[in-house]
Amino acid sequence: MPKPKLGIYWCASCGGCEEAVVDLAEDILGVVEAVDIVLWPVAMDFKKQDVEAMPDKSIVATLINGAVRTSEQEEMAHLLRRKSQFIIAYGACAHTGGIPGLANQFSREQLLRFVYEETPTMVNEARTHPQTSHQNNGHTVTLPEFRNVVRALDQIVEVDYYIPGCPPTPKITKAAIGALLEGKLPPKGSVLAPDIALCDECPRKASKPTDVSFKEFKRPHLTPLDPDLCFLAQGLVCMGPATRGGCEAACTCGNMPCTGCFGPTSRVRDQGAKILSSLCANVAAKDEKEVRQIEAGIPDPVGTFYRYGLAKSLLRRKVDLVAK
Ligand code: SF4
Ligand code: SF4
Ligand code: SF4
Repeated sequence: MPKPKLGIYWCASCGGCEEAVVDLAEDILGVVEAVDIVLWPVAMDFKKQDVEAMPDKSIVATLINGAVRTSEQEEMAHLLRRKSQFIIAYGACAHTGGIPGLANQFSREQLLRFVYEETPTMVNEARTHPQTSHQNNGHTVTLPEFRNVVRALDQIVEVDYYIPGCPPTPKITKAAIGALLEGKLPPKGSVLAPDIALCDECPRKASKPTDVSFKEFKRPHLTPLDPDLCFLAQGLVCMGPATRGGCEAACTCGNMPCTGCFGPTSRVRDQGAKILSSLCANVAAKDEKEVRQIEAGIPDPVGTFYRYGLAKSLLRRKVDLVAK
């Protein structure tokens, strides 16, 4: 009997999610034994034409990591949607836009101007920006188009399942692939990780304060960190209350606050807004001046509260209303 076909593809990705698949270690041998990998650009030399030639829905599942920023990534997402029975958004970037989604604070033109003209290491007197088509010596070379915004995968194509994390842990990756191969998948649209808040699996939860008054917000690299006490009780921002569990509290066990990479639980519409409203309600300030002093402890609110989820948040992107 032919083995089920599996694809793995990357869009706007740092490569960490590809590493996460390799992190299955010897378990990857079991996966390779059980499936026929038909696309994995980072590891194997299959071509786009190979996928185009396959019958529609002939790939059982494709894991796509990375956010979607370019026309090529959109095209591949649509092609793989057509060829696959299940599309699985693998990792925070595909799930919620991830760290690339932070670029949605700036317009496409601002980004290109900064990268190709203003960075201190750039020498570009002609102010050349990438072109989608260039002719030289009778040859034409093309580049994909850089879109205006970063999108999560389900803002481009229908997604059947989500595996969260930056990157997903080997344990949830293995469980998800196992469920897929055994046909024991939950309802379509599910995130394949427990629907509990991270605090529920954090070893510090007994010291999580029920009533906290923030007089300042400390930053983890500038303050000694108690290895056992809840970070909120230490005056640090921890995204645990607004974040889905499943990573076995990897960061808090390593004495770092959670930054929210597993995204929200099903009960939270906007992960950043949820933690922001809870922290703000507990700021102990008498007047605006004190509020300003306390909020100075969070110099990058978007990067703190929407580090992985800006593209899928209610805010989604910054719109530059000043015509340029
Ligand atoms: S989710 Fe994290 S590890 Fe995966 S591609 Fe995005 S930034 Fe990299
Ligand atoms: S340290 Fe963070 S994750 Fe752990 S209980 Fe406190 S708020 Fe929750
Ligand atoms: S503790 Fe938070 S940031 Fe760290 S892996 Fe878990 S969900 Fe991600």
